[in-house]
Amino acid sequence: MATPRAILASVRTAAARPRAAAAASSPRLPSFARSLASAVEQSPKKHWTREEVQEIYDTPLMELIFRAASVHRLNHPPDQVQLCTLLNIKTGGCSEDCSYCAQSSRHADKVGLKAEKLTDVETVLVEARKAKANGSTRFCMGAAWRDMSGRKRGFERILKMVEGVRALDMEVCTTLGMLTPEQAARLKTAGLTAYNHNLDTSREYYPKVITTRKYDERLETIEAVRSAGISVCSGGIIGLGENDGDRVGLIWEMSQLPEPPESFPVNALVAIPGTPLEKNERVTIQELLRTVATARIVLPTSIIRFAAGRISYTETEQAMAFMAGANAIFTGERMLTTPTSGWDEDHAMLGRWGLQGMGSFESTTVRMKEDASALEATENRKAGVAPSSSAPSSQPQVAAEARAAV
Ligand code: SF4
Repeated sequence: MATPRAILASVRTAAARPRAAAAASSPRLPSFARSLASAVEQSPKKHWTREEVQEIYDTPLMELIFRAASVHRLNHPPDQVQLCTLLNIKTGGCSEDCSYCAQSSRHADKVGLKAEKLTDVETVLVEARKAKANGSTRFCMGAAWRDMSGRKRGFERILKMVEGVRALDMEVCTTLGMLTPEQAARLKTAGLTAYNHNLDTSREYYPKVITTRKYDERLETIEAVRSAGISVCSGGIIGLGENDGDRVGLIWEMSQLPEPPESFPVNALVAIPGTPLEKNERVTIQELLRTVATARIVLPTSIIRFAAGRISYTETEQAMAFMAGANAIFTGERMLTTPTSGWDEDHAMLGRWGLQGMGSFESTTVRMKEDASALEATENRKAGVAPSSSAPSSQPQVAAEARAAV
């Protein structure tokens, strides 16, 4: 029987050969090593056809998870899961008609959600400090609106929120609807790490879910974010009534972007009473695992975030998702308008499976988008090193206050 060292050497050799040659030699390897060799070969692939992605999605499930786990280990520390916290900074009253969302004004009467004004900066920073103290390393802020036209003062306030959260040495993400290139550039200057803008589903199924904006408008905002040098967080929701082909279409669309998203959230629909999708059934764990595993293989360097709906799956099912390549979760008190499990519960769960929280800016692809001096300052603070003279001499006031409060 081959030793582990010999198997690994065979795998590396197979991975280094052209695909056809590796395929011809792979029968000499144990089956699990053949899978790993195949995964190694596919890891750097950039131009997937939709048929190839469908083929991966249709792989027998345990084999699919094994392949995804192999790709995961080649691209990420397999024992790390990032804890993220998402705060609603502007609740309800949104003019869009997303059929899954409690915050659309179209569903407000039936849902019974009252619209609120934009939260103030200090309230947000209190929540960010709490999230950091509990182990979250990414803090996300969501506002329920279509875009920021006519919201000049609100945008200035959000820039201060971004500065303040970044000064806590956390990754900071916002989801604020459609962005112009100028707005993206200002968010980048304020220290934004990532911008979330989900494609939600396949291009074909999208008009069945949302009619007030187009798929290509989503792609334009993603392009503005990318051009500003901000990490892209873009994923989807499963359980909208779509079929397997639509899940494949979503992942394939992501693979066609000029650069894959640094972050791919997989949300399982939380069917909220009063929304048009209130009667949708929860997606099966098998559908969820297929989506996560396929995304992991097709988008090997992306952080895959097991986002909304996680708490409707058992701990063992969640652990299967981590095995299939998910390496981030949302935790805290709430996730926008839906419930999530809390920090203590999630730390305990990760511990039971030999997993641990991921530090901020650990992902190579996220680090690459960061301003070098800001990243150095963060690394120094994390290591307890005094600021170097090359560090920026004056930080925004709100940033200094935020640091002092931790
Ligand atoms: S744009 Fe966002 S907040 Fe508005 S309805 Fe759609 S999902 Fe909800």
